[in-house]
Formats: sequence, C-alpha cells, structure tokens
Amino acid sequence: MKIKTNDKVKVVAGKDRGKEGKVIQVFPSANKIVVEGINIMKKHLRPKKHGEKGQIIELAAPFSAANALIICEKCGKPTRVGYRLDGDKKKRICRKCKEFIA
Ligand SMILES: [Zn+2]
Repeated sequence: MKIKTNDKVKVVAGKDRGKEGKVIQVFPSANKIVVEGINIMKKHLRPKKHGEKGQIIELAAPFSAANALIICEKCGKPTRVGYRLDGDKKKRICRKCKEFIA
C-alpha cells in the first residue's frame, strides 16, 4: 500500500477531482482509502423510536487509492510514490523531489 493513514492526498479522478484531504483509513486488500471530506455519501437513518425524526448523516466512503496522489510535504506537489532504501529499510520517496516521505 503506497498510501498510509494521515497522508495528505489530492484526488485526481472522480467526482471530487482536485480536492485535497487527509487519509483517515486504508483498506490494503481492496486498495481503497477513506479521505476526510472526500467521496461524501449521505446516509439516511430511520427513526429509532416512534415519533422521532429520521436523520441524514454524511460520511466519507472508501474510493480507489489509484484515484489519489500523495501531496509531498517537502515540495508541496502531488506525486506518485517511489521507493528507495534508507540503510536497510525501504522507504517511500516523492518522485518529484526525490525526498523521503514520512
Ligand atoms: Zn516532493
């Protein structure tokens, strides 16, 4: 998984194209991510008790990680992720400025 929780990403496809947000959840097996404020779905809740009003809640739904690019904190640009060895650890790097991404 190239994108991790708390990464800042830019959406590059779909209805929220161009928006940016923080990753709050990742689903590596499905290659999907949940990003704050992106891909908002409205969910209608039925009233629990008689006489109560139903509610509409908005929640960020998972979408394909392929539709998002990480925003590099060093150069501030959306970028694809590369990998480079730092000692014996494989770390993510920004393809634009070649700096390590935390
Ligand atoms: Zn960079």
